[in-house]
Amino acid sequence: MPIHRRKTRQVSVGDERVGVVKIGGDAPVSVQSMTSGYTFEVDACVAEINRLADAGADIVRVAVPNKKDTAALKDVLPRVKVPIVADVHFHFGRALEAVESGVHKIRLNPGNIQDRGHVKEVIAACKERGLPIRIGVNEGSIIERRDKQKRMRELGGVFSDSKHGHFLAIMIAKLEEYLDIFYEEGFFDLTISAKSPDPGLVIEAYEAVSARFDHPLHLGVTHAGPRETGAIRSVVPLGHLLASGIGDTVRISYASDPVLEVEDALEMLYCLGLRERRGVDLIACPTCGRIEVDLFTLVQDVRAKLADEIKLPIKVAVMGCIVNGPGEAEGADVAVFAGKQRGILYVQGAKVATVPESEILDRLLLEAKRFEARVLAGEAKLGEKVVEILPPDPLGEVGRDWTTGAEAAPGRAELTVGRS
Ligand code: SF4
Repeated sequence: MPIHRRKTRQVSVGDERVGVVKIGGDAPVSVQSMTSGYTFEVDACVAEINRLADAGADIVRVAVPNKKDTAALKDVLPRVKVPIVADVHFHFGRALEAVESGVHKIRLNPGNIQDRGHVKEVIAACKERGLPIRIGVNEGSIIERRDKQKRMRELGGVFSDSKHGHFLAIMIAKLEEYLDIFYEEGFFDLTISAKSPDPGLVIEAYEAVSARFDHPLHLGVTHAGPRETGAIRSVVPLGHLLASGIGDTVRISYASDPVLEVEDALEMLYCLGLRERRGVDLIACPTCGRIEVDLFTLVQDVRAKLADEIKLPIKVAVMGCIVNGPGEAEGADVAVFAGKQRGILYVQGAKVATVPESEILDRLLLEAKRFEARVLAGEAKLGEKVVEILPPDPLGEVGRDWTTGAEAAPGRAELTVGRS
């Protein structure tokens, strides 16, 4: 089912050299990440940014806590290939320096800059250069203030059904306060984030912001932990929001290599049909007691090899056996069904080879490359043929020591087998 995305304003991030990424409006959901190293270590910073860009990041953020970081930007920016956001906390001077260096966007938390005049200086600098600003009302950065108590009490009534009601009331009140500063200056090139480590709160916070403001939303779950646990903590709320049409740019954040953030954010968007897949779409069976090859190793090897060598979104299926494999691999362009230390390979439903286990990887790669070449030459189309893999005599061919029951139907999914 197509996702109907919420309409927002649109902001542009970038320049002629690195390209312009649109956020919001009718732009595709973009993927962001952040460097984990020091910005002042120019070579390492450039290498990390370019690694993230190669992995598919559309925009990369860097921290600029000190003058030496903003000073480094003038050396970093000419060497990267995606727009860069300067992440500013506490000192408005860093934001002004970053703008001066030619950075493409500023991330600012107005709550961390006490002097409103300083915030206005940053707004004026960004306005002059046409740079957007992201403002965050993240859970960890909202400070309750007495002058907001009345508005909070009003909003508290609105959110009284939520266990997060108190926080949501503070968040909306703070956001209104922050946005007023920008609106008073006639500045509207804003994106908003409302992150928390609590997945339920993330959903409620973004829903509340989305219902009230038309600025593009930067989705994220903060401090999600290492990828092993952070992936689910992140993808559950962000996937829910995106499937509801909320969210215009995404950052998944792990206590791990940030390349993983980009890979997982992209995979989430591919799965939701919100971005065109780049590279192979790999499906694989989880294995069970029928397995007779080292499928986990095979799948990892296939993933690594195909990611390096295939650029088109070819659907590849790696299945442990012929029993459920054909039904589950329907629609795959290239598929392998393993048997007893061997595998049968199919390309768009046509059997092309039966090879020993040691040759499966190379043959699968060869068939995927051949198929990609045919697609590029206009001789085949991705996903064109529904795979109709009827097992002619699959058990014998793949070396099984199983027998079919006498009542076995010839249909692929209905095939019944039992150990002899
Ligand atoms: S494809 Fe075969 S080996 Fe893999 S899970 Fe299904 S039945 Fe088991």
